[in-house]
Amino acid sequence: MKLILALDFGGTKLAAALLEVGSQEWLRYERRLSPRNANATTDLGIMRELVGSLLQGEKPDAIGVSFGGPVDAATGVVRLSHHVPGWENVRLRELLEEKFGIRVSVDNDANVAALGEFSFGAGVGYESLFYITVSTGVGGGWILNGKPFRGASGMAGEIGHMVVDPNGPLCLCGKRGCVERLASGVYMGRDLREILVKDLQRLERGEGEKVLELVGGDLGLVTGKVVSDAASLGDELAREILYRGAWGLGLGIGNVGNLMNPQLFVLGGSVTKAGEGWWEVVRKTALETALPEVDFEIVKASLGDDAPLWGAVALALLNQ
Ligand code: ADP
Ligand code: ZN
Repeated sequence: MKLILALDFGGTKLAAALLEVGSQEWLRYERRLSPRNANATTDLGIMRELVGSLLQGEKPDAIGVSFGGPVDAATGVVRLSHHVPGWENVRLRELLEEKFGIRVSVDNDANVAALGEFSFGAGVGYESLFYITVSTGVGGGWILNGKPFRGASGMAGEIGHMVVDPNGPLCLCGKRGCVERLASGVYMGRDLREILVKDLQRLERGEGEKVLELVGGDLGLVTGKVVSDAASLGDELAREILYRGAWGLGLGIGNVGNLMNPQLFVLGGSVTKAGEGWWEVVRKTALETALPEVDFEIVKASLGDDAPLWGAVALALLNQ
């Protein structure tokens, strides 16, 4: 096999790349943002254009696909996208196999990123790892004994909705105190905003001041990134929200360590850029939660924004 085509259908962007097997660099690479009112048809149309300009008439030998939402990896059927309408039950693998006449592998982005980090990133040389993305939401993917583990219906690794605080705030899934509810960028931003609107006493004590400065008084602009920037400027309220998120994630990691005993946890997604204080709380809480005999490392993902594409390459190679 010589040429692999890697595709990434993200919630907000589409990317495609072509790789010669054995090379460390893309032969060609294309990326485009999804339009605001994107649906499955417009996404597929944009991807068709990207692939056309990548291939320039050449024929790939295999295709790997990362999809930002639940997928049945065995059949390559997309269940749905939480961000883009119209993806319900789209037979993505079949569609691409019919078009290109070659083998196509499809899986969800967290599983694909886990495989990417295992094959080309922070997990090279390890046998078992759990990859966690901490971004708009929180998701995870397993590599066990050198192979992806997806569970009975492809839902293994959903650490985002592991409950770590049963009396905590209500999550979109209907439960309270899920890891995602505490640690995701979107929820951290929302919680800080709500406190600033409701709790005037804290504002009067000067808490939240740095946040207000950063957004020029416009609370609509408070995001996870603003929470972490304000925390690093010493804002007490922002620190409380950020470290509560890190604590929730650390609890989740410690519990997963006790349950499955992987060698390594690899953390990706933009919230991991929140700084050393965040990492310290994650690591300390995870260690305190796990039994002393349960040993693991927690490291940063190394493939960055291209993780889904590298993972898609690894997936295509795995299924040869
Ligand atoms: P996606 O969810 O589309 O994969 P990202 O991984 O970039 O995207 O995650 C986006 C989330 O991360 C947003 O909620 C954003 O506010 C948050 N974020 C971005 N940078 C930081 C940072 N330095 N610290 C904490 N949160 C951040
Ligand atoms: Zn939940």
